[in-house]
Amino acid sequence: ERPRLVDDEEGGVLLYPTSSSSSSGFGYGSLEKQRQRLPVYKYRTDILYLVETHATTIIVGETGSGKTTQIPQYLKEAGWAEGGRMIACTQPRRLAVQAVASRVAEEMDVKLGEEVGYTIRFEDITNEELTRVKFLTDGVLLREMMDDPLLSKYSVIMVDEAHERSLSTDILLGLLKKIQRRRPELHIIISSATIEAKSMAAFFNTSKRRRDQEQGPIREPAILSVEGRGFNVEIFYVDDPVSDYVRAVVSTVLSIHDQERTGDILVFLTGQDDIDAAIQLLTEEAQSSGKQGLVAVPLYSGLPRADQDLVFSPTPRGKRKVIFSTNIAETSLTLEGIVYVVDSGFSKQRFYNPISDIENLVVAPISKASARQRAGRAGRVRPGKCFRLYTEDYFASEMPVVGIPEIQRSNLVSCVIQLKALGIDNILGFDWPASPSPEAMIRALEILYSLGVLDDDAKLTSPTGFQVAEFPLDPLISKMILASCELGCTEEIITIAATLSIQSIWIPVRGVQKELDEAKLRFAAAEGDHVTFLNVYKGFIQSNKSSKWCHKNFVNYHAMRKVIEVREQLKRITQRLGIGLKSCEGDMQAVRKAITAGFFANASRLEPFSHNGMYKTVRTSQEVYIHPSSVLFRVNPKWIVYYSLVSTDRQYMRNVITVDPSWLTEAAPHFYQKQMHSSIPQ
Ligand code: ADP
Ligand code: MG
Repeated sequence: ERPRLVDDEEGGVLLYPTSSSSSSGFGYGSLEKQRQRLPVYKYRTDILYLVETHATTIIVGETGSGKTTQIPQYLKEAGWAEGGRMIACTQPRRLAVQAVASRVAEEMDVKLGEEVGYTIRFEDITNEELTRVKFLTDGVLLREMMDDPLLSKYSVIMVDEAHERSLSTDILLGLLKKIQRRRPELHIIISSATIEAKSMAAFFNTSKRRRDQEQGPIREPAILSVEGRGFNVEIFYVDDPVSDYVRAVVSTVLSIHDQERTGDILVFLTGQDDIDAAIQLLTEEAQSSGKQGLVAVPLYSGLPRADQDLVFSPTPRGKRKVIFSTNIAETSLTLEGIVYVVDSGFSKQRFYNPISDIENLVVAPISKASARQRAGRAGRVRPGKCFRLYTEDYFASEMPVVGIPEIQRSNLVSCVIQLKALGIDNILGFDWPASPSPEAMIRALEILYSLGVLDDDAKLTSPTGFQVAEFPLDPLISKMILASCELGCTEEIITIAATLSIQSIWIPVRGVQKELDEAKLRFAAAEGDHVTFLNVYKGFIQSNKSSKWCHKNFVNYHAMRKVIEVREQLKRITQRLGIGLKSCEGDMQAVRKAITAGFFANASRLEPFSHNGMYKTVRTSQEVYIHPSSVLFRVNPKWIVYYSLVSTDRQYMRNVITVDPSWLTEAAPHFYQKQMHSSIPQ
């Protein structure tokens, strides 16, 4: 019996008493009083003065001091959103955008989507006439620049969570610096939870070049540091390195529950997998040892909205809430009532190797800066405790001091195409807050050239290059959509594109893997996962989009609703680009060819004498395997093209489709020129 997870019609909802997350139910007084108690409140006048007088203001303050929720409101109150202008606040994470926007709408007592709104990819909760304060991901703001290069509707842009140094944040900062030269009246706020303000200030310091300019705001950035009011946090280390951090996390939670006073626990893990595993293990252990009073709540991106609310709703009386979170709770979201932190010492990080051309999400050790932030989350309501699941020695001598900016560990294909679309041709000479590696840049240019997106002069091709840039998608997916036009299978391909943009369409189940596999078999296509998606989609539509049907087939109802929504948006974009929506009426060869046209760079071949299903990538001869979640797992066809790689004990290819090797050279003659002789049989 699994009391925590109830598979209801909607497909897996947490059993937890959802209180109506009413504003004053917290017992902290009215919302207005809460606002005034936040550390930034004391700086309200200073912040408004600095923003008024300076082109760029850098604000540093502890997580929870009120930067994200309060500063946009102060700006609004001071008139920055009058005369049709808007205030933007960017976040690296989609979930943070949603959570913060709803909180601010609640504080301002307005309906979310009217005066206060938010936009994330494929979800626009704003109103063109009414919205004055807009929360959005930094990626979405970058896309807005394609239609409005000077971002002219905004009076102030607050780039929040700048310490995270996400790929899009760094691109955005470089572009905002350029925009400021053309639009001196644009005010920028850079806010961050850690003190790394100096280098950011140096980056934005354009005062020397602008001495001639007498009027307007001061070009030299202002720096303001908000005094936090965090309580002391006592740190504990393990004596010996732990081998299984999920187990270690669970036993630490149980011993906190046994030995420590009341107060909620925040556990830092890396992603949905280990979070689900930890919650299940905790539930089992608590049950078998008769422990009561623990309420486990997951927090990761992609969590359905209803579950997100649980994270913020008050802990039921007499219970202890345990939030199992990714590093989203490190600085992006403030959770009330946390007194204990359990830090696994890991997070999921993107790593890209330009030599093998492989980008992976890897579970990797966090930096000291992150470890300090995580510990700090325990000291918001009263002195707290942080349990680090690594040794003190490791922390002192091995843990990296700070993380590497994402731009230096990412595949740059999307980044290059976006800059090109904005008319920035000299990408290596672009003014970056941190320079990307030339090798990664060359790899990106090479792929974009093979996709037909860039021409010999590295300029966007017309129309392909510009059309690919129009889609808010990985350029490989966009190219696949464009290719489907000629092949007459756009109806099918946009369904596939929409499905690939969603984490998984299956209900995550533990312990009932067999049933899930059987359910999948009902849809499994010999061609591979992409065609399987088409079968699921067809079944869902034929069932009249029924949640019962989903439940029966282990299909995630929410994910399918999202697929339909995304598909509609892709349909609109294709229509705008003048691409007809043709269906290939079951001709799966056309579909596979379209996929190949986008993903030819991800081709692999089964090793001739392999007994364990080992493949090698055609381009760089990396050892890879088909992911167990694929319908082609153990089928091992000779030639496949994969969508992405995940690395655990091995490199696994997720979402694979069979191809004919001759299509590869057909799709990208230049790209496969060299390999053609060696590995592709003619
Ligand atoms: P910062 O950006 O400086 O980390 P925030 O503005 O996010 O701080 O948070 C300020 C306060 O607002 C927090 O202490 C928290 O109590 C409250 N808060 C923020 N978001 C929410 C939310 N979604 N639900 C309830 N309270 C929230
Ligand atoms: Mg914040």
